[in-house]
Amino acid sequence: MTAALQQKLVLSLPSLFQRIDAFVFPPLCIVCDKPRQTDNRWLCGDCLRQLIAGITSRDGCPHCGQNRAVRSCTCAVVWDYPFDRIVSFVDYGDTAQAVMHHVKYQGKRHLARYMGQVCAPYLDKSITDGVDIVLPVPLHWLRRQQRGYNQAEWFARGLFEDVARPKVHCGILRRVRRTKTQTKLDKSDRRRNVAGAFALTVKGAAAVKGKSLLLVDDVITTGATTAAAAAVLLAGGSGSVTVVSFARD
Ligand SMILES: [Zn+2]
Ligand SMILES: [Zn+2]
Repeated sequence: MTAALQQKLVLSLPSLFQRIDAFVFPPLCIVCDKPRQTDNRWLCGDCLRQLIAGITSRDGCPHCGQNRAVRSCTCAVVWDYPFDRIVSFVDYGDTAQAVMHHVKYQGKRHLARYMGQVCAPYLDKSITDGVDIVLPVPLHWLRRQQRGYNQAEWFARGLFEDVARPKVHCGILRRVRRTKTQTKLDKSDRRRNVAGAFALTVKGAAAVKGKSLLLVDDVITTGATTAAAAAVLLAGGSGSVTVVSFARD
């Protein structure tokens, strides 16, 4: 055996072991737990197709972002949000819940970014045209430290990876108060819970004046959190705020 062939065999061993490992222990889809192809990231082909079909077939309300085929909204009559509109990609159904569980509680920040990349082709140019600053809804520093990252920021980074799109800016807004979990609260309690939870940073106060902003969150339920954040941005002189979320409950 020549030295070159020996070297080639040694170099190809790790990839051979990886292939055997993937054959014996195939990676599982995070949604359906079935084995997935190793070249699919996180989701199996079926679940990814289903997710994308959910995005493309979704009849989102152009104001509040709710799926009109699932739930009727009253936003044409009553609009009590400080921001202009909500644009959401998917319903917060089983698939989005499984994804968000892995993102928030299993440390999978790259999955949040991947979801941004998956959604990116479906973000209409009319939403991003004229936007000066994209910013994620911040977490309180203690929550961020516990989780190690802000999932809304990683989703935003995936969504705005294309250089032709506005860049994501962090450090504009901060969460100054820790709020209790919103899951069991109704809309008015949620609004009280998050009132005064956000403030502009020194950099943010100088940056947002007269600017058109796009505020990104992972999941929106009643919109109370994004409303509290948007109110601070508008009070700081920003021209307009549009909200974009991965999922809409
Ligand atoms: Zn699957
Ligand atoms: Zn609506």
